Amino acid sequence: MNRRSDQTITWDKKCTGCGCRFTDSMTSLMGSFPCPVRLFKVPTGLCPECQKENKDRWEKLRLACHLNWNFETVREHFLEHPPVKGQEMIVYDSSWNANTYALVTVEVPEHTRQKRIVIASYSNGYNGQSFYRTGQNCYAPKGQVRLLPYHQEIGARIKSNDGHEISLQLREIAEIFGLKCESTPNITHKIP
Ligand SMILES: [Zn+2]
Repeated sequence: MNRRSDQTITWDKKCTGCGCRFTDSMTSLMGSFPCPVRLFKVPTGLCPECQKENKDRWEKLRLACHLNWNFETVREHFLEHPPVKGQEMIVYDSSWNANTYALVTVEVPEHTRQKRIVIASYSNGYNGQSFYRTGQNCYAPKGQVRLLPYHQEIGARIKSNDGHEISLQLREIAEIFGLKCESTPNITHKIP
């Protein structure tokens, strides 16, 4: 075996987020660096603290897109509050690079032994109308369509749009959930 040993290089930079000076480092993996050295050795970057802050902000924003639900909390919610026929819920669809929200109603609250929730009135062409208790779509469980409990603000916006689904910008979602958004998209190092 003739493998090159990995190395770490460092470079002093100024943070574009908070303005501090910091020493950036980059380690090679099996002889190759994650980014070209000439692009690493630049005067500015994002310090570890600002990177973490950005990452946290993204996580919060991602959760907010799902109206602050995840599969597990949705499952717990439906366990505690079993859905009933005619109940209003929200379908979130992140396909086509958009955040689309639709107002749906429960058609069958407990379909089969799996207690699937069958909804009326939403289909983007590929997803089924049947959801697991986690809100995952039965035909595309890893897909970008999920069922979420009703949300006052989102529901109101759809209703004032004649009941038609709405598409929200990340900025608008951040606003609804009181999150900061201005510098959010800048996760990685700026490459001049
Ligand atoms: Zn910083």
